[in-house]
Amino acid sequence: MPLNDAPAGGLAALEQRLRDDFDCLGWPARPWVPAREHAGQPVVNVLIIGAGQAGLAAAAALAQQGIPAVLLDRAPEDFEGPWATTARMDTLRSPKELSGPALGIPALTFRAWFVAQWGTAAWETLDKIPRLQWMDYLRWYRRVTGADVRNGHAVTALRPRADARVEVDVQTAAGTTTWLARRVVLATGRDGLGGPQIPDFVRGLGRSRWAHSSDVLDYTALRGLRVGLVGAGSSAMDSAGTALECGAASVDLLVRRTDLPRINKSKGSGVPGLTHGHLDLPDVWKWRLRHYINAQQVPPPHGSTLRVSRHPNAYFHFGCPVQRVEEAGQTLSVHTPRGVFVFDFLFVATGFVINWAQKPEFAAIAPHVRTWGDRFQPERGDEDQELADSPDLGPVFEFQEKRPGTHPGLERIHCFCYPAALSHGTVSGDIPAISDGARRLATGLASLFYREDIEHHFARLQAYDEPELLGDEWTPADTSQRVERT
Ligand SMILES: Cc1cc2nc3c(=O)[nH]c(=O)nc-3n(C[C@H](O)[C@H](O)[C@H](O)COP(=O)(O)OP(=O)(O)OC[C@H]3O[C@@H](n4cnc5c(N)ncnc54)[C@H](O)[C@@H]3O)c2cc1C
Repeated sequence: MPLNDAPAGGLAALEQRLRDDFDCLGWPARPWVPAREHAGQPVVNVLIIGAGQAGLAAAAALAQQGIPAVLLDRAPEDFEGPWATTARMDTLRSPKELSGPALGIPALTFRAWFVAQWGTAAWETLDKIPRLQWMDYLRWYRRVTGADVRNGHAVTALRPRADARVEVDVQTAAGTTTWLARRVVLATGRDGLGGPQIPDFVRGLGRSRWAHSSDVLDYTALRGLRVGLVGAGSSAMDSAGTALECGAASVDLLVRRTDLPRINKSKGSGVPGLTHGHLDLPDVWKWRLRHYINAQQVPPPHGSTLRVSRHPNAYFHFGCPVQRVEEAGQTLSVHTPRGVFVFDFLFVATGFVINWAQKPEFAAIAPHVRTWGDRFQPERGDEDQELADSPDLGPVFEFQEKRPGTHPGLERIHCFCYPAALSHGTVSGDIPAISDGARRLATGLASLFYREDIEHHFARLQAYDEPELLGDEWTPADTSQRVERT
């Protein structure tokens, strides 16, 4: 670590600079959306489910628009999202330079936060952002943006109503209550409308014998075990690396493909034109781009792969799809075209799927949400289940009804999580364009609120009587003295 050349005042000085920036920008803006209540109960204007980086960025962007939001998260405080819970990479996958949820404010960036504490020399030598440091930054971000987060609040049901409200059942340690909201934002994460993808070959196996790479798991329990791992993406490397570092006897990676993808096409696609233009692309191009990136597959990061391969007891097997798994006593026999492997424990690092069945809290809306598969026929050879299952969203990330008129109020729920990618591009979760997505959501909601409350705003305008002039700023002239003839 180079000498700490952090500026005097450290984080406290940065926070003062940030307060000054907020003052210059008039942030948070004055609230202007009328407060409402129903039967004596307040109706929250915007209720955000999920206080990960997407929820926090959305709340901050809404504050810039003068729309305070309430965020609910079932996780305990400071443990939202995957970073300090289920993620196992040493560092972020994305480059350190990305400004992430900073919404264009330099003092709100990770870089400013880092340099304020460890200095510029340390920043220059930093390769990628350590995973837990990113979580620390998000904790700071939450505090300095004044996000109104209620932790330990699990949303268990959503019921949109025809009368411009959504009922939201919320479970806390004290019991279940029903909140009312005019707009609900789902900032529920990478698996925001589903969960882990579980291959059929592990169904029916003893649950202590296998895990998905995103499961909460004590990896030290793998010490001395022969571990098999299905997959070769980023999370596969993270689980394999962690298992090896925790003393697994061996880790065999079973890779269906004959080689690893080398190029990260998703990274290569990221230009401002795509960030702002994807939404307005013709459907056929939206599908073609997302399908191409899916089909090419994203390679695991260089460092994560080395983290595994540096262990002599890590084995990469290609052309090795799993055909079936048999459980016998404490072991698993994993059949592949290249032979039968015997393991004590098996990981499936098979990613996430959109699968409403894994999200019981959305059961009331799931059958009514229009998906791309309901209305779009891809070109031959471009079929893609993930894309077909993706919600077909409106311009403010709002769900749309499968059959118009059958589920009014559904459009009050805004899908600001990864499954929005086919409709909006990757602006609703990943670090690179999260500020752009948050601004799109916030300005779109400001417009919807204004339109919906236009009578209120017009009445306010008519009643508005703050004088600009008091009448004593001038004296009427004696016009007869100034004219030549009358
Ligand atoms: C292992 C891993 C590594 C990643 N690394 C990178 C990376 O390096 N760079 C990058 O750009 N992206 C990365 N991503 C993708 C993306 O940035 C992360 O998934 C990120 O966490 C997305 O932020 P989010 O706010 O959308 O979701 P999350 O951070 O997952 O937050 C969602 C929150 O919603 C809450 N929630 C969900 N349902 C409910 C409910 N019913 N009631 C109450 N609360 C609920 C959860 O508790 C959670 O805190 C990674 C993803 C994973 C899984």
